[in-house]
Amino acid sequence: MRRKTAFIHGGITGDDHTGAVSVPIYQVSTYKQDQVGKHRGYEYSRTGNPTRHALEQLIAEIEGGVAGYAFSSGMAAITSIFMLLKSGDHIICTDDVYGGTYRLIANVLERFQIDVTFVNTANEQAIRNAIQPNTRAIYVETPTNPLLKITDLQLVATIAKDYQLRYIVDNTFSTPYWQNPIEHGADIVIHSATKYLGGHSDVVAGLVVVKDEVLAEEMHYVQNSVGAVLGPQDAWLLMRGIKTLAVRMEEIEANTQAFIQHLQFHPEISNIYYPGIPTHEGYEIHRQQARGAGGMVSFDVGSEENANQLLSNLRYFTLAESLGAVESLISVPAKMTHASIPTERRIELGITDGLIRVSIGLEDIEDLKEDIDQALRG
Ligand SMILES: *Cc1c(COP(=O)(O)O)cnc(C)c1O
Repeated sequence: MRRKTAFIHGGITGDDHTGAVSVPIYQVSTYKQDQVGKHRGYEYSRTGNPTRHALEQLIAEIEGGVAGYAFSSGMAAITSIFMLLKSGDHIICTDDVYGGTYRLIANVLERFQIDVTFVNTANEQAIRNAIQPNTRAIYVETPTNPLLKITDLQLVATIAKDYQLRYIVDNTFSTPYWQNPIEHGADIVIHSATKYLGGHSDVVAGLVVVKDEVLAEEMHYVQNSVGAVLGPQDAWLLMRGIKTLAVRMEEIEANTQAFIQHLQFHPEISNIYYPGIPTHEGYEIHRQQARGAGGMVSFDVGSEENANQLLSNLRYFTLAESLGAVESLISVPAKMTHASIPTERRIELGITDGLIRVSIGLEDIEDLKEDIDQALRG
């Protein structure tokens, strides 16, 4: 089955009993058992629910793993993955990581004596230098948020193998349509399904895929123990979203390329960050490991005042956190998604007060271009 077909026919489809072509929403918490200890595959919906199970099979298949798990948010998924660790363990993490992930690792996991080193995972030597005797995992985002930095997935896989580290990749930005980290050696892939997979700004969800049966068993144990599971309504909405992922990603890609070409004519804009521009650092690596560059673009307008002026004049770009929706979204990472990162660290990373992050949607590109033009004129 080819990729586009798998989004529609992968996993479990429809309902054998009625012929319904869409998986029913099993709005249920518990299941009648035929005898004590004898059930028909489902006992209790935290442990397993047929609608959620259909989604979990689907994401496993389209990411090329052996099993999938659905959680109540991306952060619930990431937290559950970290429950595979124990106190005294050390992890290495991409420094330009999603703000919520940074907060979880730096401020919450730290209470449980799980230690972290944030490094530029684009730099092999920096990773190797960070390894300690108690290092157990390496956590990577590529492209990163919001500077779209690229990490060589295969190279990190080699290091993870050398030191027997669990290799975790947040694949939210690329989606399984453009990039499949398990193919490049990752052990665990996570998604904030709130973004492109859902795609319509109407669901908060997280997904995890694992590459082998040992991890599958551990992950299910954690999912059932921690209990941060996704409800059946939201599981159904995600399956609906995933069916159109291919067409949305293709259209978003085309819109984004056209949008960037247009941005280049504006002298007030500097530093366009996008992995599909040949001058972008890591462009070649990204091209080797991903089939597309996605719909996330960041650029600098020079100052907080300029950023505010731009934002207050836009019509079609919605000022909002989040990304990956049908509607174009715009944000100022320094004041929004990355506000929990200390200022000095933010500036060090290049997340300036004038940095704008855009998630290109499915509007007519001519409207998006005109909107930027008129907003920059003020
Ligand atoms: C949004 C996001 C998360 C967190 O997901 P939620 O669904 O908001 O909990 C994690 N990683 C990345 C890259 C994200 O964009």
